[in-house]
Amino acid sequence: MTLLAVAVLGRGLVDPDQPVVHADDEGFLRGRGVFETVRVYRGRPFRLDDHLARLSQSAERLGLRQPQKAELQDLVAQAVEAAGAGEGMLRVYLTPGREGSGTPLALALVASLPPDLEQMRSRGLRLASVALGVEPGTWPLGGIKSTSYAVNMLALDEARRRGADDAVFLALGGILLEGPTTNVWWRRGRTLFTPALDLGILAGVTRAVVMEAASGLGYEVREGAFPLEELLSAEEAFTSSSVREIMPVVSVDGRPVGDGSPGQAAAAFQRALRQAAAA
Ligand code: PLP
Repeated sequence: MTLLAVAVLGRGLVDPDQPVVHADDEGFLRGRGVFETVRVYRGRPFRLDDHLARLSQSAERLGLRQPQKAELQDLVAQAVEAAGAGEGMLRVYLTPGREGSGTPLALALVASLPPDLEQMRSRGLRLASVALGVEPGTWPLGGIKSTSYAVNMLALDEARRRGADDAVFLALGGILLEGPTTNVWWRRGRTLFTPALDLGILAGVTRAVVMEAASGLGYEVREGAFPLEELLSAEEAFTSSSVREIMPVVSVDGRPVGDGSPGQAAAAFQRALRQAAAA
């Protein structure tokens, strides 16, 4: 991935190769910050309003001062236009800024997409379950897209050490939560299952797109608290997230899901997502 453009609140566009965060920024010192990752299709950030609304909710939960929405929209527009990229990945960051300053730092970054997405989509993901060790709904940062993602990255590292591509978090009792950067879905017949938001997971923007598309594609969605065994015995599974979109899951903890190949619902929802992005 290449960083194509960076815009900073109060400064506008800056050279992507120049540093923009001070050594005493609280986002850096203590991981106090929130962010969003948004897919850019043909130069347009998909569902930007939903992402900015979630950024604001995350900021509120961490007690961060926020710039005006119009200021963030302007920051995003500058970065997206400067990147000049048809397809890409936009990230928006908000931190309290320098220690004691009271002036928030906001950044909009546009980068190229990871190169291996389509290869991964045709092969399918191998997941590994990782125990979070908390009661469902009690993780203090649950549902917040904060820059304190070290736990998420540790889970990803552990999954990779175990020969998988990505992780799925489990609460106590083996209750399925979400991936480090994805929501998780599985299918039995025409019913799709996904963990409920009150388990303390992120309300994915792509998750909402899947929900909206489901009935039109002939699927019913059930949200709830489900144990890992439900995923292991499903007919197929997939993850949803802004950048990787709909990714089929072919195995969990080394056991094939369904027939161990990418499934029909994953392909149908991927097409539906692209249609929504083209509308
Ligand atoms: N869950 C977590 C923990 C995430 O970090 C993300 C995205 O990065 C998602 C779910 C998927 O959310 P979205 O579809 O909005 O990208």
